[in-house]
Amino acid sequence: MNSTGSCADVFVLIFLKVGKFGYETAIECVILSGYVVVKTVIAEIGRMMGHKTIKGRKGFTLAELLIVVAIVAVLVAISVPIFTSRMDRTKATVCEANRKIVLRQILLEQMEDDGFTRDDAEAILEKSDARCPAGGTFSVEWEEAYVKVNCDRHGASIGGGEDTAKTVSVSFTKDYQDFVKANPKTSNDNLRKAFLKKYDGKWPTLTVSGETYSIQPYYQDRGTSKQVEDRVWLFAKKESVSGWNTNYIYNPKNGQWYGATTWKGEPGGVGRVIYEDIDDLIDKIDNETHSNGKKKWAVVTDYQESK
Ligand SMILES: [Zn+2]
Repeated sequence: MNSTGSCADVFVLIFLKVGKFGYETAIECVILSGYVVVKTVIAEIGRMMGHKTIKGRKGFTLAELLIVVAIVAVLVAISVPIFTSRMDRTKATVCEANRKIVLRQILLEQMEDDGFTRDDAEAILEKSDARCPAGGTFSVEWEEAYVKVNCDRHGASIGGGEDTAKTVSVSFTKDYQDFVKANPKTSNDNLRKAFLKKYDGKWPTLTVSGETYSIQPYYQDRGTSKQVEDRVWLFAKKESVSGWNTNYIYNPKNGQWYGATTWKGEPGGVGRVIYEDIDDLIDKIDNETHSNGKKKWAVVTDYQESK
């Protein structure tokens, strides 16, 4: 096999892989490019030392090497986000399966024990090995009508009934996602206007501490290739709050409302509605702080929703 032959082999292998991007492709390409680089370096050293390379091979030329490195860079750039989002989906699925294991244990014990309490439900969660693979924290809500095992990153699994005072946002988000999908290439403004008509001119409401806020949808219609599901979220604000500002924002991934805090870190502040996508939103509500280090967003647990 001469040098042109072995180089062509590598190119053929890489191009065969182009059809199915994935992290496997990235790893194989890195190994292949490593092979090319090592071979070229050995050949160069041989040349510099004035020796002919073993069995007369010349290795790869610099041009060939650069082309391979460029192709590998492109493939890795394409593969890594695909791999990451696949991992995220896998973790979300495992998380849901783990929540359901805990939920089933709680429901089973509840059926057998008339004096079952919230403490019992929490004890079952504590004893369980079930964890969120993405590092989310599980919590349990136990009421007469339903049991909910919640992950603060991925949302809740509900059993034994529905918590109707807190499910309006779930169906509202789904409605708006479907609406966006049915009207692709329409701007967020136009979609909101058309959608409001569908809701008879009245947004649903969120009630926190006796105050009522209107729940509205937002669609990030620019600058991202992500799916509709990753570009729709809700916010809830008072009429007096202007522009794209809001009192509350909703994370559809875990079904939780977050309240904007004041500079002192207390409830009652105003935050932003617009984010790049749902991952950006989650990142900001988890991590953003005021200049004094107080968190900008706080989870709201005591609220009601109504249509
Ligand atoms: Zn989770």
